[in-house]
Amino acid sequence: MIILIKENTASADLREFISSLRKRGVTVDTAAAPAALILTGGSLPDADRLSALEFVREILPLREPYSLASRHLHPQNTVVTVGSARIGDGGLTLIAGPCSVESEEQTVAVAKAVKAGGAALLRGGAFKPRTSPYTFQGLGERGLAFLKTAGEEAGLPIVSEIMDAAQLPLFRDVDVLQIGARNMQNYELLKAVGRQEKPVLLKRGLSATYEEWLMSAEYILKGGNPRVILCERGIRTFESHTRSTLDISAVPVLRELTHLPVLVDPSHASGRASLVAPLSAAAVAAGCDGLEIEVHDHPACALCDGAQALTPDTFSRLAKELFALHGFLQKEACAQNVERSRCRWNPEK
Ligand code: PEP
Ligand code: MN
Repeated sequence: MIILIKENTASADLREFISSLRKRGVTVDTAAAPAALILTGGSLPDADRLSALEFVREILPLREPYSLASRHLHPQNTVVTVGSARIGDGGLTLIAGPCSVESEEQTVAVAKAVKAGGAALLRGGAFKPRTSPYTFQGLGERGLAFLKTAGEEAGLPIVSEIMDAAQLPLFRDVDVLQIGARNMQNYELLKAVGRQEKPVLLKRGLSATYEEWLMSAEYILKGGNPRVILCERGIRTFESHTRSTLDISAVPVLRELTHLPVLVDPSHASGRASLVAPLSAAAVAAGCDGLEIEVHDHPACALCDGAQALTPDTFSRLAKELFALHGFLQKEACAQNVERSRCRWNPEK
């Protein structure tokens, strides 16, 4: 059961109420926006009696196991602000940069180029989850320092993948913590990033269902961090021609199920640079809030994922097309007055 709480309720009244529920064996979780209590287990009080309480705005049934992530509790889209980017506000946010930070020069060059091309955030891996232990594992802490310099020189916030909760202190200058596909169900990591304030970009696991993915987001939200961004990056299917299969349905399905912003990563989904543009366009048409795209200044020499990396020039041309496509669709949606909460297009933009 979800109890929506009226604004301006005295916190002492709420504390007393929560403690009376806990005495009945009820597990009580709190949500901040909207103010709500999520009650599970124990002996739940009668809904009619609860509705009569002065501070209760509304009682809702618990429909999904991921109540904090669900649209049911939180009908309005969540907007995650990072620097000047407002991810989820109806605009199109591009995150771009190399798969791995390889050197300071490379990262600064790519950062400046993607910024000029329209990226709002710079990505770069310093701790790399590689299938083979014999391949490049990333520069680690040194890589994060190069990424920080590149972000500062280009004027872009930075995104990097964290693989273990113990790495958190190393990520103090990273603006967005990425949790990669392989760690989507690393529950201790999810709990740890839920206890801190930086936004978390949570990628979909290689064979995770929407519900499993949203349950992982729920771990972060339950920890008290509302700044969660989802990223579809392709799933395992029988098709082996592409690295993964981009599940484009994820975008409109998640739009219905959750208020969290939804990004798409066409680079890991396809594994091939030639497919990045068409998949990006499909993702924009499906209504994503943004894209994460790998860009390298010399893809042929990249230490990781060179086959899927765009050059800075190709990225800039693609970004122009994507912003144009996004603008066109937004205008059409506004003209047709598409319902706002269900739709990524923001009529006020
Ligand atoms: C990445 O973004 O560099 C990455 C490893 O992605 P994924 O976790 O989606 O494979
Ligand atoms: Mn990569």
